[in-house]
Amino acid sequence: MDLTALAKEHGTPLYVYSAEQIRYRLELFEGAFSGRAHTICYAVKANSSLAILKLLADAGAGFDIVSGGELERVRRASKAALKRVVFSGVGKQVWEIDAALKAGILLFNVESEAELSLLAERAKLAGVKARFALRVNPDVFAETHPYISTGLRDHKFGIAIGEARRIYRAAKKMGSLDAAGVSVHIGSQIRQVEPFGAALGRVLGLVKELREDGHSIRYVDAGGGLGIDYGMDASAVFDPAGQVERYAAALLAVMGDEGAHLLLEPGRFLVAQAGALVSRILFVKKNGTKTFVVTDAGMNDLIRPALYQAHHEIVPVKQPSGASEAVDIVGPVCESGDFFARDRVMPKVKVGDLVAVLDAGAYGMSLASNYNTRGRPAEVLVDGDRCDVIRRRETVKDMLALERMPG
Ligand SMILES: *Cc1c(COP(=O)(O)O)cnc(C)c1O
Repeated sequence: MDLTALAKEHGTPLYVYSAEQIRYRLELFEGAFSGRAHTICYAVKANSSLAILKLLADAGAGFDIVSGGELERVRRASKAALKRVVFSGVGKQVWEIDAALKAGILLFNVESEAELSLLAERAKLAGVKARFALRVNPDVFAETHPYISTGLRDHKFGIAIGEARRIYRAAKKMGSLDAAGVSVHIGSQIRQVEPFGAALGRVLGLVKELREDGHSIRYVDAGGGLGIDYGMDASAVFDPAGQVERYAAALLAVMGDEGAHLLLEPGRFLVAQAGALVSRILFVKKNGTKTFVVTDAGMNDLIRPALYQAHHEIVPVKQPSGASEAVDIVGPVCESGDFFARDRVMPKVKVGDLVAVLDAGAYGMSLASNYNTRGRPAEVLVDGDRCDVIRRRETVKDMLALERMPG
């Protein structure tokens, strides 16, 4: 697909996604776990576009949701997929629990004793049994950015694994609960596969104890978090198929002949590298010794560099022939943190050129905001020779529509 033509037709900044790449990533997962009962529950928060959810649902995926809003997205994308939904998150509200019970989701991943009591109460009121898994905290360290590491004892997520057996025992006395599984999620953008194996090993130890206690545990949820290569390390050869195989091997080795239905919650791995943010260069300016390339995309459109010090490869859409230079690529937002790259050596670009910020399909649009009263980008989905607008550009009118001035 000609990005220059797309940018001309739809304007910039513009998120462009490849349906084929998303399907391919899902197939890698399906293939790697085909030897056993499993469901891939795509983590909706990575990219919650209805069109992408529908594409994944049509390909058989389930979903990992973290809010009632995400539940409604899944319902709109595919009613049939509701029974393949797991509901995670530390702060579920009554209306969200009620909606999920009504929708008949597969599993609640419960993160505290108080939440478990609330779930029992709401299920009783609704006259149903709620299938739940405790999200246990395995106290496993995984190398990633501190903001997206979740599996340590001092994190807000989950329940200490040592407490779990007692809580399951207490839950047994509540008639409206069905202790159907155990879940874990140790963090995001984890490139090494060993921590996933270590965490799952601890979970399986607990599963054995729970079965001895008479619980019928049928699901083991290994969470998400498999990392991708954002291109920081130019010497590394990244091969997504090999990465999924190594990940599956690490999990399946500890699973052994454990027969439980395996749930997996990949987010980033399925969508990150299927998306780019296309942006036009507004100005090139020199301040002191530095050259700043100002793009029409900013941190409100893609916050990962500002929030996680994340690296994204940035390439000119048309390969210019001139020399390279070191530049800062920055957005128009009034924050010094509004940059996409610092001291990045790239081919010389000029005003009006297009650049593509690569690997922006995950935690890009889903984290976009209206900061500086900037409308969020349009999104297009490319599928073979089709290209559809899956979300139109936000207008100033859209942004002001909810506000009122008293008097
Ligand atoms: C965010 C999240 C995921 C997905 O993480 P990725 O790194 O995008 O794979 C899965 N499960 C839970 C509970 C999450 O919070």
